[in-house]
Amino acid sequence: MEREGRLTKRCCFGLLLHWSRAYAGFAIVVGAFLPEGTAHATSVLIPSNFAHDSASSSSTTAPAPAAAMDIARSFHMNDGENATSYAKNSALQKGIIGMTNHITMELLKDLYMKTESEKMVIADLGCSSGPNSLSVVRDMVKTVADTCRENKPMPEFLIFLNDLPSNDFNSLFKSLPDFYTQMMGTPLILSIAACPGSFYGRLFPTQFLNFVYSSNSLHWLSKARLNDEKGNSINKGNIHIAGNSPKQVAEAYTDQFREDFPKFLMLRAEEIVVGGRMVLIFNGRAGPDHFDRGFSLLWSLLSQSLIIMASQGDVDIEKLDSFDAHYYGPCKNEVEEEVKKQRSFELDRFEVIESNIGVNNCIAVSNGIRAIQENLIREHFGGNINIDKLFELFRNLLIEEAKKEAIKTVHFIVALRRKEM
Ligand code: SAH
Repeated sequence: MEREGRLTKRCCFGLLLHWSRAYAGFAIVVGAFLPEGTAHATSVLIPSNFAHDSASSSSTTAPAPAAAMDIARSFHMNDGENATSYAKNSALQKGIIGMTNHITMELLKDLYMKTESEKMVIADLGCSSGPNSLSVVRDMVKTVADTCRENKPMPEFLIFLNDLPSNDFNSLFKSLPDFYTQMMGTPLILSIAACPGSFYGRLFPTQFLNFVYSSNSLHWLSKARLNDEKGNSINKGNIHIAGNSPKQVAEAYTDQFREDFPKFLMLRAEEIVVGGRMVLIFNGRAGPDHFDRGFSLLWSLLSQSLIIMASQGDVDIEKLDSFDAHYYGPCKNEVEEEVKKQRSFELDRFEVIESNIGVNNCIAVSNGIRAIQENLIREHFGGNINIDKLFELFRNLLIEEAKKEAIKTVHFIVALRRKEM
């Protein structure tokens, strides 16, 4: 009941906030309406979008325990603004955004200089809650505003914040007044709307978007299918690709990436105007090896923490066998290959960013992973699992590893331009 209420509330964000220079002192005009195209697209497209993400349960011959988790309905970062929320534990993602922001802004500026359009329609895919999304939006608007002072008239902005429907859109939109305060002095017409749904489904009308941005989100697959024909786990004792996982595990993850990523490209190709840009920032692997310290270690440590909990009777070991993270970091070649095969986008830029997890940031990493995984872990293992204990175990294992050697992680920033076909 409670969840239903929350979903309805969050899906109702057809609220466009208009901030117009026509009103002295930047009055905020709130209008509860959706542009015709958007409302139409939402009502038509959400069912197919959901059907795709839940397809795993019906497409396998036997009931698949891991696939029983409906990602599109259950996956969300920790809500609100309390100590364990994503809002309070996303400093690492903020760091990645900071390292890549100059590239994002350069590409947006270039697009703006080349476009004839008087409107700039921008989507942030996988916005989550917390300050990161709106801080990028603020930088985007300011970048265009600074450019247009010297060159062209200011476009009107239409910004869509997308995430899965159970994302905490409420707290994200509650921070809009602070966002507007930060924007004081920039005269503009700006509408911000939520677009709940999976980015592995169609989200927007055809040829609608000028610029698509996505940070720290595309490494999430639509599902993890790690069962044999009988529905048994092929990855017992692990929740991701581990050093001792059979080779079928890495193959299953790769296959899912090869299904999801081209689909994402194909859908965005329909929604983005010719010449429009897409900037995708996500976690990747340094090389072709699937078990890579920077990428897989964190999942192995979380598996180990769950195994310790199981050995102490806190967790059912069979539940551990059927829990798999729907997470995949491709290597550079895999991404380039899929972009080339899909053919709708020109690869403008591909940068690799390295960062280190040292002893000093192990607590932040551990809290960050808790903010991301707590909901799925509770749903799978039962609401009364001792999450504090799990993440204390995890944090201690992580600190031990970081003491041996800093853990290098890799992120990609991939800039794509919609081709004329
Ligand atoms: N962009 C923000 C948030 C990243 S957290 C930042 O950089 O801080 C990743 C977000 O991606 C989560 O909120 C998660 O719900 C969202 N996400 C994962 N899979 C998704 C999907 N298929 N469709 C839409 N959002 C998705």
